[in-house]
Amino acid sequence: MYKIGIAGAGAMGGRIGVSIKEAGYDVTLIDHWEAHVNRINTYGMDIKTETENYTVDIPAILAQDVTTEFDLIIILTKAMHSEAMLKHLLAAGCIHEDTAIMSMMNGLGHEERLSQIVPLSQIYLAVTMWTAGLRGPGQLLLEGEGTIHLQRADGEMDSHTNSILQILNKAGLNAQISDNVFEAIWSKATLNSVVNPLCTILNKTIHEFGSYPHSAEMVKPIIDEIVAVAQAKSIELNSHDLLQKVEAAYPKETQGLHYPSMHQDYANGRLTEVDYLNGQIAAYGQAANIPTPRNTMLTQMIHQLETKL
Ligand code: NAD
Repeated sequence: MYKIGIAGAGAMGGRIGVSIKEAGYDVTLIDHWEAHVNRINTYGMDIKTETENYTVDIPAILAQDVTTEFDLIIILTKAMHSEAMLKHLLAAGCIHEDTAIMSMMNGLGHEERLSQIVPLSQIYLAVTMWTAGLRGPGQLLLEGEGTIHLQRADGEMDSHTNSILQILNKAGLNAQISDNVFEAIWSKATLNSVVNPLCTILNKTIHEFGSYPHSAEMVKPIIDEIVAVAQAKSIELNSHDLLQKVEAAYPKETQGLHYPSMHQDYANGRLTEVDYLNGQIAAYGQAANIPTPRNTMLTQMIHQLETKL
């Protein structure tokens, strides 16, 4: 049976890992957070949903102790910790030449960074609309529904792609193979590049931000820069559709009542993923000679805030 490792088993890694485990697969959670790993191994993963509370028995291991060879490793660290995690797993003998490495993290450029460590043909990219929260070590909050779109990072199909699809769907995670996963990744990254830094800088929920009468004037130029940079990378995005996508997050019935994850990271004294959102757009823009003053400014403002952490 496929041996599956979830590298970075916080909120989202916990959700994906537990779902796959409940579907009967051999899954191990790999993490650096000792209290989390100990609690999961002692009491199981404690789960709260909209309607029930239950516990799932799932093995967890400290990253420093792992030596298992995996067939599939799903990376769900925060983006800035993914390369160190992958290097560590490679050095620990967890990755063989046919191990599939799937990034399900938010943000851009993961395939470029991870392929410095393992061949691009072993890397799969997934973008997910599932969400998850942590209530404490070993305690997940799982609400709502979601989807996953995935593709091998070099665009090729192989038997792993179908196996991963089957695993995720048996786990009820609504997965599909995409023929252009980059569009979905950039589209989600655009939403995150708008609401995450703005709500963090302004200390507002998504609804509070969207209620300001000039919010569209603030958002549109950020999106236009992203669309121009994407186009230079042969990824076709539509500004109008993206503005609609951002505005669809404003109502209280959708995501409006929430602070975005960047706000939560900052509020909890953790570094943010801004370098993989606005910062990555600015870097791609610079490489392609496309000005990105707004994305650059948002990146710098978030880094200014982070200096206070
Ligand atoms: P997370 O903060 O829950 O977990 C990330 C890492 O931080 C894990 O290794 C976790 O164990 C560790 N961690 C968390 N709290 C800690 C604490 N108090 N002390 C010590 N370590 C702690 O992050 P996440 O939300 O699971 O995000 C992982 C990736 O998934 C990111 O790229 C994120 O953007 C993406 N993502 C998250 C969601 C979501 O709803 N959470 C949805 C889609 C994509």
